[in-house]
Amino acid sequence: MIEIKNIVKRYAMPNNPHQTVHLSPIRSNAVDGISLSIKRNSTTLLKGPNGAGKTTLLSIIGGMTRPTSGRVIIDKKDISSLPENFLSEVRKKYFGFIFQNYQLISGISVIENIMIPAYTSGKNPERLRQRAISLLEKLKIPHLAKQKIEHISGGEQQRVAIARALVNNPSIILADEPTAHLHPDLTVDFIKIISELIQGGKTVIISSHDVKFVNSGITERIIELTDGKVSNDIQMLAN
Ligand code: ADP
Repeated sequence: MIEIKNIVKRYAMPNNPHQTVHLSPIRSNAVDGISLSIKRNSTTLLKGPNGAGKTTLLSIIGGMTRPTSGRVIIDKKDISSLPENFLSEVRKKYFGFIFQNYQLISGISVIENIMIPAYTSGKNPERLRQRAISLLEKLKIPHLAKQKIEHISGGEQQRVAIARALVNNPSIILADEPTAHLHPDLTVDFIKIISELIQGGKTVIISSHDVKFVNSGITERIIELTDGKVSNDIQMLAN
């Protein structure tokens, strides 16, 4: 369902002030020629040290960052060169993002945060609210709907971030270090929720250092990145 072909992402580094002016900027490849094929309804763990390229790769797969070169193919459609308005439709249809530190918006309520990715979908606002409420119920936090983000706990914020990722009912969930700043017990909760999503047919890609994911029973494949390249690709479960 997800195919990436020879993906390179090169960020321009700031010019070194001591460099002679005519030299081009120093460049480094955050992702350095990765090709992968990821099956529908599978769970993949992206591992690797800081700076290995995990966030960049997730963001390219999800159409949030454009690769310098290479192709991203989702359900046989090449999304790499789509104009921004089409790409944003693809993002909404296919992807739910759980960002590092969640990136929830303070000052507005839990339910408003959850509805944000759906605002431009043209959905009836009342139906959208119902959808958000049913997600809150599913995640066992319906009582928090009207709370401001800054007034809920880290574990509750994690659930809100998951609900927000699910609001457009995407088929693929991309989670970037989703448990990095949480009490270890909450990783177990997160794994439980993810395993339900997988049973519901979702495809999940998680970037994490957390060893709990390795033997969680949900991880089917571990892809290890080093310096922007795949250094290991392990199938965990016989399918
Ligand atoms: P990881 O998620 O594995 O920690 P990242 O994808 O965040 O790795 O980063 C990979 C490399 O790309 C790092 O060297 C990082 O400094 C660099 N990088 C990431 N984002 C940017 C950016 N916006 N501009 C310049 N360099 C970046």
